[in-house]
Amino acid sequence: MKFKLTILGSSGAVPFKDRFPTAHVLNIREQLFLIDCAEGTQMRMSRFNIKRGKINHIFISHLHGDHIFGLPGLLTSFGMNHREAPLHIYSPKGLKGMIDGLFPYEEKGPPYPIHYHELDTNQSQLIFENKEVEVFSIPLQHGIDCNGYLFKEKKLPRNMLREKIEEYQIPFQQIPSIKEGADWINPKGEIIKNEELTKSSPEPRSYAFCSDTAYTESIIPIIEDVDLLYHEATFLHKDIDKAIATHHSTAQQAAMIAKKANVQQLVIGHYSARYEEKEDHLTEAKAIFKATHLAYDGAIFEVEKK
Ligand SMILES: [Zn+2]
Ligand SMILES: [Zn+2]
Repeated sequence: MKFKLTILGSSGAVPFKDRFPTAHVLNIREQLFLIDCAEGTQMRMSRFNIKRGKINHIFISHLHGDHIFGLPGLLTSFGMNHREAPLHIYSPKGLKGMIDGLFPYEEKGPPYPIHYHELDTNQSQLIFENKEVEVFSIPLQHGIDCNGYLFKEKKLPRNMLREKIEEYQIPFQQIPSIKEGADWINPKGEIIKNEELTKSSPEPRSYAFCSDTAYTESIIPIIEDVDLLYHEATFLHKDIDKAIATHHSTAQQAAMIAKKANVQQLVIGHYSARYEEKEDHLTEAKAIFKATHLAYDGAIFEVEKK
């Protein structure tokens, strides 16, 4: 079962050479979640084989252009492709007004339902939930309303062992309760323990997206122990003054957060165009947190667990 992050854009602020600004797609068991939607997102989806029609939920961190300027084009393409499925967009306040203003000649905007969920950016909240996934907001410090997002798989029921169904002649209608942990009592009244009939399902996986933000330890309790953390690293630490002035982080700070939050893997990105190469970011972060990876356009990070 997939838990796969694709980086569509890894640049901060402006597109630069082979780097588009921020957009990520998270595939959790074939449910696609789009996180931020910068200029170029559709081109990157085509390039990296993301089926945009499968996107029903879009999570926008904040209303700076380098995180939303791809959205009007994507919403238009959905309409051109005769989309009928409802689309849910989660963001800080103000996005609906911006999008409505961009479609003044279309009476009701794009021809499919769009549900805007404008979020509080002062406290972490459960903002989406279905049978398999839950998503929480992560308040960030960026000078304007800004949320990161935490995606958590739910623990699945135990897996039934096929051979045991035959061995004990277990009726089909009993299987759901056994998967939930019940023992099986056969017609003779003998108890067959659940552990003999099932095996544990894989451990749930998690991904936290934290961009854009100044260094803030307030996020640590929310993202603690995640499997995969994306934390922006716009600057190198020698340019800390610029990071502070613009409410961004350095590679060293991203690594500090990863270390203090005890995450498994760190991905850094949102690089300023002042840096042609990204290797110094990696070296700086790895000195503090070894399991650091560079985001680049097209990079894929998968989480697998037993
Ligand atoms: Zn940005
Ligand atoms: Zn920003």
